[in-house]
Amino acid sequence: MSGGMNFELTEDQELIRKSVAELAGKFDDHYWMTKDQAHEFPQEFYDAIAGGGWLGMTIPEEYGGHGLGITEATILAEEVARSGGGMNAASAIHMSIFGMQPVVVFGSDAMKAETLPRIVNGDLHVCFGVTEPGAGLDTSRITTFAKRDGDSYLVNGRKVWISKALESEKILLLTRTTPRDEAAKPTDGLTLFFTDLDRDHVDIRPINKMGRNAVSSNELFIDDLRVPAEHRIGEEGKGFKYILHGLNPERMLIAAEALGIGRVALDRAVKYANERVVFDRPIGMNQGIQFPLADSLARLDAAELILRKATWLYDNGKPCGREANMAKYLCADAGFAAADRALQTHGGMGYSEEYNISRFFRESRLMKIAPVSQEMILNFLGANVLGLPKSY
Ligand SMILES: Cc1cc2nc3c(=O)[nH]c(=O)nc-3n(C[C@H](O)[C@H](O)[C@H](O)COP(=O)(O)OP(=O)(O)OC[C@H]3O[C@@H](n4cnc5c(N)ncnc54)[C@H](O)[C@@H]3O)c2cc1C
Repeated sequence: MSGGMNFELTEDQELIRKSVAELAGKFDDHYWMTKDQAHEFPQEFYDAIAGGGWLGMTIPEEYGGHGLGITEATILAEEVARSGGGMNAASAIHMSIFGMQPVVVFGSDAMKAETLPRIVNGDLHVCFGVTEPGAGLDTSRITTFAKRDGDSYLVNGRKVWISKALESEKILLLTRTTPRDEAAKPTDGLTLFFTDLDRDHVDIRPINKMGRNAVSSNELFIDDLRVPAEHRIGEEGKGFKYILHGLNPERMLIAAEALGIGRVALDRAVKYANERVVFDRPIGMNQGIQFPLADSLARLDAAELILRKATWLYDNGKPCGREANMAKYLCADAGFAAADRALQTHGGMGYSEEYNISRFFRESRLMKIAPVSQEMILNFLGANVLGLPKSY
């Protein structure tokens, strides 16, 4: 083999792909449709993933995990979405798979010992609270405030869109400890906690939304929530730095989920295009149907390549901001386009719930908005990679 470049997965990575596909494949379309329509958390699926030991795949071995990298995590995420579980499946486990990075990297030994083994065995459900009604992409504008009071902090404020809060025992909570206008930089003075979502002091209200309804997204009204100082991650005022650390791998994970939905939508479209006969021939014989599907295959494969490069760079400790952002951008775009074309291929049946295509369509749309919008990715590439004037 000639030096360095290698596009093959290792044997272990292939095994992960195969095992996860097999396990996720046990949950069929009917399961996901029912959970989505009932707005019910997919506990059986979550338990199966936990039972297979997969929740701990990136958690260090000393806490019961497998200590694997983002490459393996994205393989899992793609297969889970591709099984037809889509974002309902991926979001049910997303936080456990890589979202605990701020705790793993910056948390105290006591915090890690207390919480990480419970992530691995599936017993501890967690959510991530950043977004607020007055602060979306501009995180420095958050106003949820943690006021130091002896050995603890008293937290007040509001969060919005917090996925899985309804089912979660704990929250990774980003707060302000210094008002924005008193901090040296807008992103200074933010403090991150990993603490209990105490229902006596946090009112959690699910948001009615377009899709991915098996996993809730919620508004949080936080009223005098007392948080012990030991629940703080790292130093006071450095919270932004701690969440930044996890943003690139999060983009890769989301990219993989978008890719998985795109691939399942494309598979379903191909099957339908071969079977559905109109004007005495399978609709897939028409280039008007065939070409968009072939084009989607090319775009999904190309998006996957940049994702693989991004995960390889991250796992090898190299800078990966450019590739992580591109992977999220291109996978979200290719995934949604594939779902849209699958819908067109199914004609009226695409619009029904029966074929699940409308579910893929709604879910794949999400990744163009969250956790970071396509526009913010272009902002990043324009300013930080191309060197154009910062526009925001
Ligand atoms: C289903 C779902 C689940 C979510 N889960 C979570 C969660 O678990 N935890 C959490 O903290 N958050 C969560 N979010 C929130 C999500 O991260 C935000 O919605 C996202 O970051 C976008 O922020 P925003 O909605 O406030 O958009 P805004 O910041 O209000 O932006 C609105 C639009 O304007 C565009 N825009 C703004 N400024 C510029 C600019 N300078 N140049 C070009 N375009 C610009 C944006 O790209 C976007 O399209 C979730 C959201 C959804 C929909």
